[in-house]
Amino acid sequence: MEEEKKSGHDHSGGPGTIQVVGIGPGDLSQLTFKAHQALTEAQVIIGYSTYLELIPAYLEGKEAISSGMMKEVDRCQKAVEMALQGKKVVVVSSGDPGVYGMAGLVLELSSPHGIQVEVVPGVTAANAAAAVLGAPLMHDFTVISLSDLLTPWEVIEKRLEAAAAGDFIVILYNPASKKRKKQIIKAREIFLLHKDPKTPVGIVKNLYRDGQEVTISNLDNMLKQDIDMFTTVVVGNSKTYQQGNQMITPRGYNLP
Ligand code: SAH
Repeated sequence: MEEEKKSGHDHSGGPGTIQVVGIGPGDLSQLTFKAHQALTEAQVIIGYSTYLELIPAYLEGKEAISSGMMKEVDRCQKAVEMALQGKKVVVVSSGDPGVYGMAGLVLELSSPHGIQVEVVPGVTAANAAAAVLGAPLMHDFTVISLSDLLTPWEVIEKRLEAAAAGDFIVILYNPASKKRKKQIIKAREIFLLHKDPKTPVGIVKNLYRDGQEVTISNLDNMLKQDIDMFTTVVVGNSKTYQQGNQMITPRGYNLP
């Protein structure tokens, strides 16, 4: 950390590279071809153990470094260290690495060292969830994380309020955990100040992973569903409706 700031293009010391790769929500079918290439060509793959378990085939013959959920900074520092040894490093994020993923941290920590970093996008949970629900994101939407670990709760509440008042479709990430339920309860209360109780709510759990569950509920009843850390919640706007097992937000076309 005491290193002198170098230009981002100065590779005179011969550092390797870091690619921050999104692996999509779980199943390999959701991996982009670019992510596949990066994982195939990597010498070192670093990631949270749960994510590395999703890509066993890519770990064979490579140095795999996994760590627990609370060690994001350590993990990125390790990536920088390995890159400075001249290695081709991949840091894995679920979904898209630039959406509450590892991309920001890797860029922040690697910039003083002149390491070349590439962010390889992935299918974020919001896109994947929308697809299995039907077409709920056909109009303006916003993603809000209910995790107040790194963001003050007051800030989150203000954003929920603004999103609801603006009639956005709202996607909730990190909606609840076993011990943390009050945020989703409060979020629903805020939505009900502006949205109809019958507004469809898509609840998508363990998408593309074991135990996948897709449910369409509404604001009234949504808390009857089991909502946890592996769930993405999609709250419709005032035009969103349910048709069979699909959630649709009309774009606004005149239909015959
Ligand atoms: N970088 C990730 C998001 C990290 S935030 C991405 O782009 O998808 C973590 C939150 O994403 C989870 O709490 C959950 O709300 C959502 N999520 C990630 N993977 C999911 C999956 N397979 N099924 C349902 N929700 C998921």
